[in-house]
Amino acid sequence: MIIDCHGHYTTAPKALDDWRSKQVANLLTPELGPRVSELRISDDELRESIVNNQLALMKKRGSDLTIFSPRASFMAHHIGSFNTSATWAALCNELCYRVAQLFPDHFVGAAMLPQSPGVDLKTCIPELEKCVRDYGFVGINLNPDPSGGHWREPPLSDRHWYPLYEKMVEHQIPAMIHVSTSCNDCFHTTGAHYLNADTTAFMQCLTSDLFKDFPTLKFLIPHGGGAVPYHWGRFRGLAQELNKPLLSEHLLNNIYFDTCVYHQPGIDLLTKVIPVDNILFASEMIGAVRGIDPETGFYFDDTKRYIENSSALSAQDKHKIYEANARKVFPRLDQQLKIRGF
Ligand SMILES: [Zn+2]
Repeated sequence: MIIDCHGHYTTAPKALDDWRSKQVANLLTPELGPRVSELRISDDELRESIVNNQLALMKKRGSDLTIFSPRASFMAHHIGSFNTSATWAALCNELCYRVAQLFPDHFVGAAMLPQSPGVDLKTCIPELEKCVRDYGFVGINLNPDPSGGHWREPPLSDRHWYPLYEKMVEHQIPAMIHVSTSCNDCFHTTGAHYLNADTTAFMQCLTSDLFKDFPTLKFLIPHGGGAVPYHWGRFRGLAQELNKPLLSEHLLNNIYFDTCVYHQPGIDLLTKVIPVDNILFASEMIGAVRGIDPETGFYFDDTKRYIENSSALSAQDKHKIYEANARKVFPRLDQQLKIRGF
């Protein structure tokens, strides 16, 4: 089985976009709507949005199951208040749940949280628990910067985040550390803000003792870990200067990286530097980079091709990257698959 641990519902029917536009237009006059009940998307519309897009590409490229979360750039936690985010997250999560219900062999949900800048993380727990208990979701996306590029929250090692970590540990769900749209002109959303956040999150963990407090907490750092694998020597050296343990002991029981790196040399570096036990297959399709690489003639985000072409990886390594590591990091997914005979 090939599990893609990083997919977003970027092809949701336009009605969702229209509903959000009205919500944003009426931030100061919420009594003008839109009401939740005004969003009406039929199962047929959901099917159509998936079959000809995400599912067609999964079949063509050879992945079986996608851990599917709401569109990351649309989370936009910086917009409005907690109530704005709560309503928006609930709608987006419900759509991912419905997709997973319609295509149970191909999709399982990961939740967007109703984060809002400066708001206590405890407010996110009811949505998280609904998604885990009622929707069968297996993970969450955690935005380390709900201000959208201004970094106003404390680092991920701060106790600010602990109420959420306690629930993650209790329910055995990992978090993909995933920012949303940048509203800071200095940072392009997918080209800079995402990769900065990946690198920043790793360093916040490195300088702290977070995983002493939460030995079973698991973070998945997407986009190949940002700059982390490329600068692994710098991070090892900094850990040494800070009298931290070796990174293998300090962070690699808790931090994992995905394969959303869109060229062969990047995947070769990732798989050479980071232990294969810490790498999970992902494509982030249909997402950040949608074009065809003129150097290869293949889509940039057809990441399975890079794993297949990696001569350094054994068949067992590939099995870990494609399936076994995801089942380890997402225990609730593993349980669901076992029940279904996989
Ligand atoms: Zn993403």
